[in-house]
Amino acid sequence: MASQNLNRPARRGARAPEGDGPLAALAQRYAALEMRAGRLMRRACGPVCAACAKVCCRPEMCRESWESPFLALVRRWSGANAPWSPEQGCLGPQGCLLAAGRPPVCHEFLCQAILAAQPDDAARQRLQDLARLLTRAGQRALGGDHLVEIMTPERLARLKPSRLAARLDQAEERLASLERHWR
Ligand code: SF4
Ligand code: SF4
Repeated sequence: MASQNLNRPARRGARAPEGDGPLAALAQRYAALEMRAGRLMRRACGPVCAACAKVCCRPEMCRESWESPFLALVRRWSGANAPWSPEQGCLGPQGCLLAAGRPPVCHEFLCQAILAAQPDDAARQRLQDLARLLTRAGQRALGGDHLVEIMTPERLARLKPSRLAARLDQAEERLASLERHWR
């Protein structure tokens, strides 16, 4: 059921955010959602990626995390930060160093090797659903623009917090359902 409680903390014991208005609370919730989804993605994709010689990450992809005002808020309010370099972006020896605030496309990309490694079609469908969770949560956040495509603080301030809160409610419910399959 959709709740409009924008100040619901991102995790038990999380400090209620101050500043940045209701967007700070939403950024915390988004970060918590992203980290939960990331745990499942690592379980499903990690073994395949660990055995793969390709490098999918590109520094220019990481840049969205710094250029998008909302993703910057997510990094700020979740405490997730990572060094960025022109050569590596925020890719470290063990993978992405950014715990939250990654561009949604980083979660959405599933290569053929990962899809082929899933045990059956139902598992593939669940993984695709998981991969699109954040993309869907941010769709049409302001007019036709995705949440992370709102490129100025002034436009971000025009976002309707209740609309994003409802999208996060739906995403949290969907994620809870997906988590039951990974237990
Ligand atoms: S996503 Fe696919 S291509 Fe990229 S590192 Fe992982 S297994 Fe390799
Ligand atoms: S997963 Fe991390 S390192 Fe890779 S492109 Fe995305 S932000 Fe950059």
